[in-house]
Amino acid sequence: MNRRRFLQTLGAAAGLAPWLARRSLRASQPPTSGEGRYSGDEASFIHRYLRDGDSVETPQPEPGRIFDAIVVGGGVAGVAATYKLRDMDVLLIEKDRTIGGVSKKEVWEGIEYPIGAAYIGGTDPGSALDKFYRELGLHKEWRKTSEQEEALFTGGELIRDFWKNHPDFTPAREYFKQLLENRYPDIPFTGQSGWSRDQYLAMDRANFSDWLARGIGKTGRPYPPLLLSVIDCYCRAAFCAGLKELSAWAGLNFFLADMGSSFVLPGGNARVVERMAERIEGAKPGRIVAGRAVVRVAAKNKRWLVTTASADGKFSTYEARAVVVALPKFVAARVVDGIPSAQLGAISQIRTRPYLVVNGLFRRRLLPDIYGGYTLPGNPFTDLGVAEFASRSPSGKSVLALYYPMTEAQRGKLLLDDSFAGFQAQARTAFQSILAGQRMKPEDLLDVKLTRWGHAVPYPRPGQISSGLFEAASKPARGLWYCGQDSDGTPCIETALQSAFEAAASVRKHLS
Ligand SMILES: Cc1cc2nc3c(=O)[nH]c(=O)nc-3n(C[C@H](O)[C@H](O)[C@H](O)COP(=O)(O)OP(=O)(O)OC[C@H]3O[C@@H](n4cnc5c(N)ncnc54)[C@H](O)[C@@H]3O)c2cc1C
Repeated sequence: MNRRRFLQTLGAAAGLAPWLARRSLRASQPPTSGEGRYSGDEASFIHRYLRDGDSVETPQPEPGRIFDAIVVGGGVAGVAATYKLRDMDVLLIEKDRTIGGVSKKEVWEGIEYPIGAAYIGGTDPGSALDKFYRELGLHKEWRKTSEQEEALFTGGELIRDFWKNHPDFTPAREYFKQLLENRYPDIPFTGQSGWSRDQYLAMDRANFSDWLARGIGKTGRPYPPLLLSVIDCYCRAAFCAGLKELSAWAGLNFFLADMGSSFVLPGGNARVVERMAERIEGAKPGRIVAGRAVVRVAAKNKRWLVTTASADGKFSTYEARAVVVALPKFVAARVVDGIPSAQLGAISQIRTRPYLVVNGLFRRRLLPDIYGGYTLPGNPFTDLGVAEFASRSPSGKSVLALYYPMTEAQRGKLLLDDSFAGFQAQARTAFQSILAGQRMKPEDLLDVKLTRWGHAVPYPRPGQISSGLFEAASKPARGLWYCGQDSDGTPCIETALQSAFEAAASVRKHLS
C-alpha cells in the first residue's frame, strides 16, 4: 500500500488543532502465521457475542476502583489516545493477543516486515506531527522514499522512476505536483485550499473516474490508460475501492499525497505502535490489557461501565469517568449502549472491505533500491512492497509483500480457513509472473505467509464526506468519544492519530 499526506501542510493555516499545524518490542508482533494458517484478525471469539447473539454477563466492577479513562481498541488510534493520557489513570483494552490493529509486523531472518500498514506520510519539518514522530524517536529509524524508488511492474518488466521516465506519466506528473503544492484538496474542507465550496461539493459527489475523465488540467488531454490503471490500483490499495466507487475529492486527496515522499520504518507502522507502547508501559506498567474483547460499554451515574469477555468466556467489568472508543464504528454500534438512532443510521452507511496481505520469504534479494511498486495489469494484487528497504543492515534475504484488496463478496471465502492453500498458490504464481524480469526461480521463494483482515478499511463513497456522514457516525456522548480511521472516512495513520489526539484532549478537558 502506498502513502498519502494528510493535512500536514495545511493544518496551521486552517486553524486546526495545534499538533496538526503540520510495551515493548513484542507489543505489536502477533503470533506468526504458520504453515497453512492465517495471521491477522483474531475475530472468532468476539463473533459469539457481537454477531451471533450469545448473552453477555455484566459482573459488578471492583468496588472503588474507578479509572480516569478506559480506551477501547488497541489499533494505532487507541494506542495513541492512551499515549496522550499516560500521565492519568488510564487502561487500554484490546481483543487480540497483541496490540496494533492492522499495524502489526512479523519477523523472519532478522527482517521485520509489516502484515498490514506499511508507510507513514511525509511531514513538514517542525509540524506538530513531525514533532510527535520525533518525540518517539522514529526519525532515527525511518527511511524517506522518493519517486526514484517506486516502480511499475508490467508484463514481467520493471520500470523504475516511471513518473519521470515514462511518457504516459510525465505531463500528468507536473499537473499533480502543482495541485499538491498549491491546491491540495483538504479533508476536512477548509476553504483555504484554492477550491471553492461548490467545487468541493461537486467533486465529493462525483466519483473519481468521472472526474479523471475530464482530462489533465485545463488542457483536457485525456489520461493515458496506463496512468488510469495506476491510479485505480492506488485507490484499490488504499481504500479497497476502485475509481468508480470512490469520492473524487477523497481519491485526489490520497493520490496527490502519494506524489510526495513517505517514511518507511522497519516493520512498517507497527513501529509507531511499539514506540508509543514502550512509553505507556514506562509511565506505569500494566495499563495495556490484551486478549479481552469489550462486549458492552454502558453509562451509569455519570460514569461508564466497560464489560470485557476473554476467549474462555469469562466476563469482567471496569468503571471509568471517561471512555475513548477506538473501535471500528460498526463494532462500536454493537457494543456501546444507547447510541441515538440517527447515529446508528450513519454508522450503517460506512462500508468496510476485507484485505489479504501476502508476504513472500525469499532466499535472495531481488529488488534492491526500491521500496515498492504497482503490479499491472489484470492482477488482483495491486502493489508490491519491499520490507528490507527500511532495514539498516539488510541481510542477503528478502521479504516482499503483495497486497490484495477485496470486495465484500470475497469476505466469506477469506474467513474460511480452507481458503489458505488456494490463495497461497495464487500468490506463488503472481510472484513468479511479477518478478519474471528479475530472473526469479521458484526455489527462491521459500515460504508464503498470509494475513487476513476481515474489515480492513472504510471507503468514502461519493457524497459521504461532504454530507457529514462520518462526523455523524462519530458523535460523542457525555464522557465518551470516538476515534479511529473511520472518523472521517480517510483510512490512514494520520486520521487515526488526529482523531485520537482530539479524543484524548476532550477527555482531559472533561476530567479537569
Ligand atoms: C493491509 C493494510 C495496509 C495498510 N497500509 C497503510 C499504510 O501503509 N499507511 C497508512 O497510513 N495506513 C495504512 N492502512 C490503513 C490503516 O488501517 C490505518 O493507518 C490505521 O492503522 C487504522 O488504525 P485504527 O486504530 O483506526 O484501526 P484498527 O487498526 O482497525 O484498530 C482497531 C482495533 O480495535 C480492536 N477491536 C475490535 N473490536 C474490539 C472489541 N470488541 N474489544 C476490544 N478491541 C477490539 C481491533 O482488534 C484493533 O486492534 C492499511 C490498512 C490495511 C488493512
